[in-house]
Amino acid sequence: MLRQDAGRFMLGKYLSDKKIPWRLRRRLGMAVAGNTPTASFLTKIGKMQSAGCRLCKTVREARGESTDGLADETHGHINSAGCEGMATTLMAAHHSIWRHLYDSMHAAQKPKSKLKFVTLDKESNMSTLWLREEFLRICSKEELVEKAWDIEVTIPLKKSQGTRYNLDPGSFYVNRFWGRRLDGVAINETLKIVYILEFKRSTDRDEGFLEVKDAEAHEQHKSIIGALKAAAPEWEFEQIYFVVGNRGSVVESDFYTKLQKLDIQGGKKDKLLADHVTQVCKAHNRVIESFLQQVQGGTRPTIEGSRENIGHSVHV
Ligand SMILES: [Zn+2]
Repeated sequence: MLRQDAGRFMLGKYLSDKKIPWRLRRRLGMAVAGNTPTASFLTKIGKMQSAGCRLCKTVREARGESTDGLADETHGHINSAGCEGMATTLMAAHHSIWRHLYDSMHAAQKPKSKLKFVTLDKESNMSTLWLREEFLRICSKEELVEKAWDIEVTIPLKKSQGTRYNLDPGSFYVNRFWGRRLDGVAINETLKIVYILEFKRSTDRDEGFLEVKDAEAHEQHKSIIGALKAAAPEWEFEQIYFVVGNRGSVVESDFYTKLQKLDIQGGKKDKLLADHVTQVCKAHNRVIESFLQQVQGGTRPTIEGSRENIGHSVHV
């Protein structure tokens, strides 16, 4: 089900690690096997009548909106930005995996590396980064926003941006640019290279999920990279994507290539991958736990023997 190279070995190790509670390993095993007790799965086995997402339904009902045309409650859906009931949990899971990886990579760099990881926090966006010396040495704020303008005006508005645009179209594009965020940045001032790091969780059902995410992330960085290249032509800017599948797969060769680019000590790469996969698996468990709690309406799962009653008399 997972491709040979897709961290299957690591996942196998995690799933058979006796130190990790059985309940956590079982949930991930179910996700890998495709039988997480979603409405979609329960409908398929005749335990439910409708596959529509129960979490999205609750959110829409609370807003007094129609519940027609609900997305199917699949493992992919509850792990996607499309599920309104899971948004907060997913965001937290995403940030915790990335924070851990970013800090671990930073700590595992070759001691003599000239490539400096930039420490980012919740407030970091293009506007706050361009107050810092190391960024101002790349180009000035004025040069950057001038080049960004040409690109921003070509990027269509999202529905949610309409009101702000109508209020003041002139400053909208400038503010949208300065409000853009980067997941990570590493700068080599000697070689004049900037790596823009991006972290994505993705469905790992499809072959080539790396490429899909590249296309999705494009708009986000189109204006940042484009503006930087135009404002600081003597510098090189390169994007590095870290992608994990939502069932815990990490493409090992791809991961190692990226670590090498970021000057990570060769001897630390295996441990970095193992720790990363563990973080991804733990985050997956928190996501599924939150999902189960929500569909059970706050009632705690009952345990029968070593099995867990997830409602609808289905024991997993
Ligand atoms: Zn949903």
